Amino acid sequence: MNQDEYAGATLSIDLDALVANWQDIDRGVSPARAGAVVKANAYGLGAIPVVQALAAAGCRHFFVALLGEAQEIHDAAILPPDATLIILNGLMPGAEPACAAIGAVPVLNSPDQVARWAALASMTGRRLPAVLQVDTGMSRLGLTPDEVRTLHARPERLASLDLRLIISHLACADTPDNNANRAQTATFDRLTSLFPGVPRALDNSGGATTAKAGHYDIVRPGIALYGGAPQNDPASALRPVVSLEARIVQLRTITPGTGVGYGLTFVAERPTRIATIAVGYADGWSRHLSGKGSAFIAGHRAPIAGRISMDSITLDVTGIPDEHLYPGAPVELLGPHQGIDDVARDAGTISYEILTSLGHRYARRYRHAAETRLQRSACA
Ligand SMILES: *Cc1c(COP(=O)(O)O)cnc(C)c1O
Repeated sequence: MNQDEYAGATLSIDLDALVANWQDIDRGVSPARAGAVVKANAYGLGAIPVVQALAAAGCRHFFVALLGEAQEIHDAAILPPDATLIILNGLMPGAEPACAAIGAVPVLNSPDQVARWAALASMTGRRLPAVLQVDTGMSRLGLTPDEVRTLHARPERLASLDLRLIISHLACADTPDNNANRAQTATFDRLTSLFPGVPRALDNSGGATTAKAGHYDIVRPGIALYGGAPQNDPASALRPVVSLEARIVQLRTITPGTGVGYGLTFVAERPTRIATIAVGYADGWSRHLSGKGSAFIAGHRAPIAGRISMDSITLDVTGIPDEHLYPGAPVELLGPHQGIDDVARDAGTISYEILTSLGHRYARRYRHAAETRLQRSACA
């Protein structure tokens, strides 16, 4: 039995669109180069196929959040030898040898992380590669400006390390005109001037898609690669990458006064046709979409009627032509009529959360028609 055939819905991931999005960003930031943020299983889309496709297109800097994510990619043996795998959150105490063993590069976010990585380098007599993060105003990860100056004054603390990159992160990159971006950029320039010659990376998707004087050496796009709008404006989205198609499980017509779903929060006001699909909050279709979100059937909008259940959603399909309504009929949850930013808006969240919540019960199809042989030379 092919279980996929009986899944509640099929999630399609267009790796060609993903690669085209990466190429657009890579060209747009030239002479900087685009890396790719593939943390959280490449925002839910599958780290292995995503890394494979982007590596074939010439991407050489891959960013994950955790050591375990780096290990999974390393163990799949899909990285070109000149690619760098960078762990954004850095390492928990004791994780240093495991990181060195797979050749991943930790981001050093605190004096403590610097000391522990340098200690391993001294102990093993190997000059270990490192990325340094400086906090330019987000107060999340990275050395404070004072800690950066202290580190600069004590060069022996970095002597056993090979400093490959200095990074920081913008808090407001999705609103390019925000003054905070200018302030953070100025702080980044000031702090990184203490380490001349070390490559730099500041921009995520928002920064990388903002027209400005420069993008330093590497950019770190995530959401824009996966089709989400990098800026507050939905029109800033590149190509959509995911689509999700469910199928009708059951149809019924209910009389006025009849309730639908848990809590009977939807009550029919007129004869109403209800279609049930086999996708629910266990599949990442947020319960916040109860009575708010939509699906599309042959291009016709079908509002969600009542609460979202764990394994099913009820749709009001009244008025949709009969020929489109039958058990097994396709129902668009993500596609040409409704993208991840539309669903995010209805759910009161951001496209990142829609993607990273996509469940594990879908059949998954990867489209990768075009062999991506158009490689620019590997990054320095
Ligand atoms: C997640 C993350 C990114 C990617 O952000 P997007 O907004 O998805 O482009 C870049 N840099 C850091 C440090 C991150 O944590």
